[in-house]
Amino acid sequence: NGQLYIVATPIGNLDDISQRAIQTLGKVAWVAAEDTRHSGKLLSHLGLSARMLALHDHNEKQRASALLQKLQAGEDVALISDAGTPLISDPGYSLVRLCRDAGIKIVPIPGPCALIAALCCSGLPTDKFHFIGFLPAKSGQRQQVLQAIPAGVGTLICYETARRILDTLDDLVAVYGPERELALAKELTKTFEHFAFGTAADIKAWLTEDPARCQGEMVLMIAPSQPVDDEIPAEVQRTLKLLMAELP
Ligand code: SAM
Repeated sequence: NGQLYIVATPIGNLDDISQRAIQTLGKVAWVAAEDTRHSGKLLSHLGLSARMLALHDHNEKQRASALLQKLQAGEDVALISDAGTPLISDPGYSLVRLCRDAGIKIVPIPGPCALIAALCCSGLPTDKFHFIGFLPAKSGQRQQVLQAIPAGVGTLICYETARRILDTLDDLVAVYGPERELALAKELTKTFEHFAFGTAADIKAWLTEDPARCQGEMVLMIAPSQPVDDEIPAEVQRTLKLLMAELP
């Protein structure tokens, strides 16, 4: 059998491609890509020419079986998406599941992922986080999704579009109140990379100050409601309890 490589590609800055990614894309028999034209540009930038096959949300199931046949015939396949890590709000799940069930070896070639890059520079807690992908397009559904997320899951992370960000900020206020600390990561690794921090009102003010700021790619992060108890060491918690008991 061939091997299936899950290859991360840049989320903006083309230098963010790993040596292993270049080697892998250069040696596989097939590169399965979300958009072959878009990924063709990356490959030619890397000086590579590969046989490509389109694998997107609408044809994934059917393409996955075609790719499985190639893998079973001994050909190696690399899966890439338009940007970042495949399967993270991107196609690939059906293919990986099918290949796993068929006993194909699946090899990760890790690299850029917008949610991780955003979280690590946000200054919000990183010990626990919950990724929600894209929120629904309609405000009512967005609020429902947000309301259904249980407390204690840590920092919330979602992918957001420039078109919806202002409405989503309003929904966050409706669900979590106006005080909740947020962080917005924009255009990561690109020329206009920017982090905005503060309440929904602060971020809205920054975004609307200049129309150009309401464009581009963004990751929205929501701080946990308050420091959870277990962030305070057990011994300190015990002492606090004793002291509290002595208070009038
Ligand atoms: N697979 C990708 C990854 O690993 O991050 C995500 C693909 S998803 C279809 C695209 C969304 O990811 C964008 O709408 C945006 O929310 C986020 N994103 C991708 N690149 C980004 C960047 N350079 N800066 C900020 N957000 C980015």
